[in-house]
Amino acid sequence: MVVPALRKADAIVVFGAAVWPEGPSMTLRVRVALAAELHAAGLAPIVLCTGGRSNGSSEARVMRAMLLAHGVDAQAVIPDDGGINTRHALRSVQRFGEGRWRIIAVSSPYHMARIGSEARRQGIAVQLCPAPRPGPRTSRLLAFDARQYLREAVAVPAYAIGWQLETLLRHPPLSLAARAMRHAKARIGFLLRDADAVAATDAAISCRIKEELARVSDSETVMTPASGLRRPAQGPVGSRFGLRHGRLHAGIDLRAPYGAPVVSAAAGRVLLTAMLGPYGNVAVIDHGGGLATSYAHLAGFTVDESEAVADGQRIGFVGETGRTSGPHLHFEVRVHGSPVDPMAYLADPA
Ligand SMILES: [Zn+2]
Repeated sequence: MVVPALRKADAIVVFGAAVWPEGPSMTLRVRVALAAELHAAGLAPIVLCTGGRSNGSSEARVMRAMLLAHGVDAQAVIPDDGGINTRHALRSVQRFGEGRWRIIAVSSPYHMARIGSEARRQGIAVQLCPAPRPGPRTSRLLAFDARQYLREAVAVPAYAIGWQLETLLRHPPLSLAARAMRHAKARIGFLLRDADAVAATDAAISCRIKEELARVSDSETVMTPASGLRRPAQGPVGSRFGLRHGRLHAGIDLRAPYGAPVVSAAAGRVLLTAMLGPYGNVAVIDHGGGLATSYAHLAGFTVDESEAVADGQRIGFVGETGRTSGPHLHFEVRVHGSPVDPMAYLADPA
């Protein structure tokens, strides 16, 4: 592939494309291959994979696996499930880069106008790097591309209008009281709908841990790391373990910005990495002897199931997947599958 003349940047951002049940689309393959090539050429130290969900798979997660297969170092790859469209993807760029990243955007040629104009609106310094289609240009491919360009001709101005509307909605001409009332109503509805879904997910996680424990260990005693568990994300405790709005809040919430690293609270083995309803992206780590920890609402995972993890190893990033009112880490400690108060297990609870 021919790498266009580019200046060094802080991150290469690969935009997601379809993942079919049988595997990633050709569109996605060429984007990832180009990003790997740019990274190997030393153009940026980080590759951010941003996408939504495609036929039940996380596009970002599939992209990460492909980048690793291309020989990109695991530490250099950031998977982000928050990029459900161009605007959200570029917002993720702002959050991971704390508003300072200069990026190289890798997508298909027909998306470049939209990415360029949206980046300008968000104040992101961007170099556009279209990933060309490899192989012979059949009439079917040409027709597909023509349809994409036509779609973009509508999408680019629609994005600009959407931006104006969002700005207007963020500062609506409503009285403060009316706004507070609307917020309270939405919050109550949210909590009622939430309760059942959370209970179901909680039971699923518990069940999964118990199954695994029955398989690998028959130990009744619970091991606790001698030095206590490590705090998995840097940030203050927002919501504590216990009854909240009449139901059990099965863990603690650590307030940290979107994109902050999440690390394993102790050495162990990854039991589960999945998107589970209100928990969003959740990782469960088995520490042996009946003790497991779980990490919810992650933006993406940097480990895979059944991988061994060291104490303090990065497993993902703080995000807002699942049902959450903002970025934070929901952290649980489970003993034989049942949730216990993590504060009693943290080495440094303050
Ligand atoms: Zn929580």
